[in-house]
Amino acid sequence: MSHPHDPAERARLALKRPDLLREAAWINGAWVTGETLIEVTNPATGKVLGVVPALGEAETQDAVAAAAAAFPAWAARSARERSLILRRWYELVMAHRDDLARLMTAEQGKPLAEAQGEVAYAAGFIEWFGEEARRAYGEVIPGHLADKRIVVLKQPVGVVAAVTPWNFPAAMITRKVAPALAAGCTVVLKPSELTPFSALALAVLGEEAGLPAGVFNIVTGPPAPIGAVLTTDARVAKFTFTGSTPVGKMLAAACMGTVKRVSLELGGNAPFIVFDDADLDAAVEGAIASKFRNTGQTCVCANRLLVQSGIHDAFAARLVARVEALRVGDGLDGPTDQGPLINAAAVAKVEAHIADALAGGAAVMTGGARRGDQGTWFEPTVLCDVAPAALLNREETFGPVAGLVRFETEAEVLAMANDTRAGLASYVFTRDLDRAWRMGEGLQYGMVGLNTGLISTEVAPFGGIKESGLGREGSHFGLDEYLELKMMCLGLRPTQLQDS
Ligand code: NAD
Repeated sequence: MSHPHDPAERARLALKRPDLLREAAWINGAWVTGETLIEVTNPATGKVLGVVPALGEAETQDAVAAAAAAFPAWAARSARERSLILRRWYELVMAHRDDLARLMTAEQGKPLAEAQGEVAYAAGFIEWFGEEARRAYGEVIPGHLADKRIVVLKQPVGVVAAVTPWNFPAAMITRKVAPALAAGCTVVLKPSELTPFSALALAVLGEEAGLPAGVFNIVTGPPAPIGAVLTTDARVAKFTFTGSTPVGKMLAAACMGTVKRVSLELGGNAPFIVFDDADLDAAVEGAIASKFRNTGQTCVCANRLLVQSGIHDAFAARLVARVEALRVGDGLDGPTDQGPLINAAAVAKVEAHIADALAGGAAVMTGGARRGDQGTWFEPTVLCDVAPAALLNREETFGPVAGLVRFETEAEVLAMANDTRAGLASYVFTRDLDRAWRMGEGLQYGMVGLNTGLISTEVAPFGGIKESGLGREGSHFGLDEYLELKMMCLGLRPTQLQDS
């Protein structure tokens, strides 16, 4: 079947393995198409890259049924067998890193170097959890009575439903799917409708690695009907979501009808705090990495840059110079540092936040406007004197805008940083070890970067507190999200040692 897509756009992909681009959902080991199609566009050009089927409740139920049917055999395999399949999957993802990165840049817009970095990061979760599969150790607890013995087993929770966002089209998937499969669970994934191709390419390689039919399923289509099944079907034991806070809250509430296990990775409002004694170069580089990576569209992006008055002007000047040197452009055309925003709504939000900040007394130091009158390009921007009450400081901006806020004391900045319902990532730059430790303990966040703007890795627990989420992904803790504890209590009959 031929589908509508822009031939030039498709040719520009120049995939070494064109079959990695799939325009079908992946259910029970088969590629499933549909009558109605959803177009996937390249945000850098606005052109149609391809289509995926707009599946609904019936196909989602099929996928859940397939995952439920595949679960007993997959769970019964030895941890080593599952581990070896995950290892092969990791190797295949790394072997096709260039193709996966080009596909990601085309559907999501991020610079090619960042896409290559994400593919390796995504593969890292597969490798890590393949290794962890063999270490789902239980425990032996001293009995509470002389004739009692207590053992705790860890068992896979069952069928896992996963819903993921567009900003990291591969890593947000493997951070869930790899631990789930390692634990012995089976998965139904609903990737973002904006970036389904990275997900589908992962499924191609997963099958090649030896994942049996039904163990990993992908349903493409509009969110609501698919989400309705995934959050209410009693066969789904666990629901894991990464995305915005309002959607996560709504879906988690729907899961309570069948008391599913729920993990949530939601939005942040990260403070990026620079003290007078910070290493200026490190702080500026940290701010660039944290704020402008993925065009400011990461959940751990610095959202508020809180800078102590003694270093404020020097930091601002250095930051502006660095920001003005960022290369904005289409990642498929050559080396770039910043791509387009994901869509028109994202541009409108950035514009609204800037207008609100300016109305509250902020000033533009660089950027501040769209780049060109077409598409979703936005200038990398720095504002100063942003009022603490500005939208820029209170909501996740999700765009390339660094808003500077001046502060005087440690107590003042800690209060400012914690004055939010979000609690995902935070950053502190200081050369005073005592202060770094005090701030680290005082910040009400799941993650604190001390003198670094890059904190994500498969080996550490990633996640938020307050309204930024529930549970952790990555690290050995990430496996527990897909394991149930089962306690077995053995009552011994009174016996004597026997001689024969
Ligand atoms: P989003 O909430 O709009 O969408 C996330 C996913 O939910 C998508 O797959 C979407 O299709 C789906 N969805 C939306 N409405 C739904 C419904 N009614 N039923 C079922 N599914 C539904 O978020 P987004 O714009 O894709 O992603 C950006 C957000 O994700 C930001 O807030 C960002 O901070 C957050 N995020 C968090 C983390 C983290 O680890 N904490 C990581 C990446 C992104």
